[in-house]
Amino acid sequence: MSYPTQPTASHYIDGAYVDDAAGASLPVIYPATGAEIAQLHQATPALVDRALDAAHRAQPAWAAMSGTERGRILRRAADIMRARNHDLSVLETYDTGKPLSETLVADATSAADALEYFGGIAASIAGEHIQLPEGDFVYTRREALGVCVGIGAWNYPTQIAAWKAAPALACGNTMVFKPSEMTPLCALKLAEILTEAGAPAGVFNVVQGAGTVGAQLVGDARVAKISLTGSVPTGARVYAAAAAGLKHATMELGGKSPLVIFDDADLESAVSGAINANFYSTGQVCSNGTRVFVQEGIKEAFLSRLAERLQGAVIGDPMQMETTIGPMVSERQLEIVLGYIEKGQTEGARLVAGGNRLNRDGFYIEPAIFADVTDDMTIAREEIFGPVMSVLDFETEEEALTRANATDFGLAAGVFTRDITRAHRMVAGIEAGSCYINTYNLTPVEAPFGGSKMSGVGRENGHAAIAHWSEVKSVYVAMTPCEAPF
Ligand code: NDP
Repeated sequence: MSYPTQPTASHYIDGAYVDDAAGASLPVIYPATGAEIAQLHQATPALVDRALDAAHRAQPAWAAMSGTERGRILRRAADIMRARNHDLSVLETYDTGKPLSETLVADATSAADALEYFGGIAASIAGEHIQLPEGDFVYTRREALGVCVGIGAWNYPTQIAAWKAAPALACGNTMVFKPSEMTPLCALKLAEILTEAGAPAGVFNVVQGAGTVGAQLVGDARVAKISLTGSVPTGARVYAAAAAGLKHATMELGGKSPLVIFDDADLESAVSGAINANFYSTGQVCSNGTRVFVQEGIKEAFLSRLAERLQGAVIGDPMQMETTIGPMVSERQLEIVLGYIEKGQTEGARLVAGGNRLNRDGFYIEPAIFADVTDDMTIAREEIFGPVMSVLDFETEEEALTRANATDFGLAAGVFTRDITRAHRMVAGIEAGSCYINTYNLTPVEAPFGGSKMSGVGRENGHAAIAHWSEVKSVYVAMTPCEAPF
């Protein structure tokens, strides 16, 4: 079988596809079959250098363009992405294994949203005027940082690339982006589309490779900022490397987020929330609410309705529109998840549904639900990054809040209740960057997104992102002659 997935070349540098056969080979595996669907090369150090050089050369002229012009290019790229949504979604499905029913609505479309949103505000990025005594004043300039590096995880390759590129470029920065070595295909399309939309050569570059390529990018003196989406251990390493060069850093890391369901909640809505918080993208979502705290009064009703609703899940070929659960991204990730499921059982949690590998090609697993989970169990403490829901019982609001916060992570949290004061009290007390009331896992580009505690530093999306992709210069202007003591 042949696949329409072999890119023109492995990398995209200075406005064109580039390859270098000297780089180690990078096979691309389709998670639904395990078949190799493309062959790329990792970037050699010389190629990484070339990409950084291109970004460095392109940056002053890009920053000197008006925000209106930069914004127009980004918005044009958004239109191209929307027009090609189908093909880009198919490619995202090949890259990740996520069902087409998801990728058609969540990936190129959310990338287009980011390009459109930041394209729209590029022209209004501005400083301020501060009046001082005697006519003196200060004005501030909001300036680009320079060359920025984006490093992506494998669960949302198109979205992650665009969530970083769109605000970075809007602010006048240029970028070298390294996708996860597991999903190298989609960011190349973003680069191609940005060129087509009018971005000058070198403004957005893509280099492939594993962590070593990422480390070279992070350590380079030409780089002003790093934005990483990845796990906490990688984040800690990359943040430390950025600190060594006093570089700006945004870290979008992992989580073990709580979803608290009170007994007055709309049960059907809460079950939907728990499904979205655990099984979307086969559970490979950083903000997933994997610790589902259910108030004792509705525990059995919740579990039985959840089990019924799970019967409606369609696991299978991700290219079929009726499929709602695709494979895991890789054999390795599948094995990690199976290991956690085994651990959950050994430590005494009750597996009420799923958890088995499917007997077919590809990396398929049934979504798993554990009940009677306690806070000390491994499955309640560690990020699994797969379709494994842990249901924990609780009695009081105070207890739920304390236990929800008893984690080093702080990415997201959700509350389901009909009591509006309790809902707001809970989210005010929860230590997390993104909170949801009576819904879960919506990430519109208009809303700032990012983690507290070990889940990250900085924010993506919304106006908040501008502060993380630019810096302020203060200019003091004197209106009277300068005086000195002697
Ligand atoms: P990893 O942390 O393994 O990798 C993230 C990226 O960093 C990859 O491109 C990786 O390269 C690269 N990398 C690894 N080591 C280094 C290094 N020393 N220097 C520079 N770059 C390096 O994460 P995964 O790809 O496994 O993604 C899953 C994780 O991402 C989960 O923890 C998830 O929660 C988190 N995530 C967070 C999101 C958020 O917005 N908060 C969103 C999505 C995912 P390579 O893998 O190619 O070797």
